[in-house]
Amino acid sequence: MSSPKVWINGKLFDKADAKVSVYDHGLLYGDGVFEGLRIYGGKVFRLREHIDRLYESARAIKLEIPLSKEELIAAVGSTVQVNAKSQGYVRLVVTRGAGSLGLDPRKTSDPQVIIIVDDISLYPPELYEHGMDIVTVATIRNHPDALSPRIKSLNYLNNILAKIEAIQAGCLEALMLNHKGEIAECTGDNIFLVKRGVLKTPSLEAGILEGITRNSVIELARAAGIPVVEGPLTRHDVYTADECFLTGTAAEVIPVVKCDGRPIGLGKPGPITRQLRERFHALVLAD
Ligand code: PMP
Repeated sequence: MSSPKVWINGKLFDKADAKVSVYDHGLLYGDGVFEGLRIYGGKVFRLREHIDRLYESARAIKLEIPLSKEELIAAVGSTVQVNAKSQGYVRLVVTRGAGSLGLDPRKTSDPQVIIIVDDISLYPPELYEHGMDIVTVATIRNHPDALSPRIKSLNYLNNILAKIEAIQAGCLEALMLNHKGEIAECTGDNIFLVKRGVLKTPSLEAGILEGITRNSVIELARAAGIPVVEGPLTRHDVYTADECFLTGTAAEVIPVVKCDGRPIGLGKPGPITRQLRERFHALVLAD
């Protein structure tokens, strides 16, 4: 692919020239919001849902996005077209904008709206076949009353600290607990368990991002007659589950076969995980 063209506030730039100010509070303080989207067959999957979540994140941090949802949807469409991408990834970023040094968001101007269209490959392909190994980390997910995990903000240090712990332990993904010791989510993915034919996943009250892939998988499971329960789960539930998998825009649906050294179920991807993976792949092409 030739160099990606990046959209910033209505103008297209070559990747090398796509820049924002070092005074931008997105850089200085992680003050901003983002979304990660995927392109399948030239079309952005669940674009409207991602845009809605972006605007909700922005609203939660009192950041006004200087264009309408319709304008942003059109800008994403045209940037995907300009980059001639039929498969790929879109990163939407809205920063608070440049301001004086100091936290006060009122001292900023010109929020930067950025659309990057590129490729992403999160995990090696063999892990999708054989499943991955995850580890519970000591870093708990942000307390919802401190920084709600419902907000997809540019401040991802909580997740990065957990990721560092996972890598240190020889794993590619970390299982994060919440302040109550319940299962929350992974650093960039939601988690699902299967127990006796029932699909289980933490509810939003656990303090997690409301994943768009998560919601798609819940819909698919219900449509396929698989019961779904959202509620509190513990590590015990993970260790004694028949199957486990993660969902995310970048990760899609990936089986987990080991957690904290315990094989999950038979220690290989299970039938419901496989079925939902297949249904998800069909959905992204059909939607
Ligand atoms: N949790 C976190 C913390 C994430 O960053 C992500 C992905 N961005 C997810 C879950 C999965 O969300 P989605 O399916 O919308 O990509």
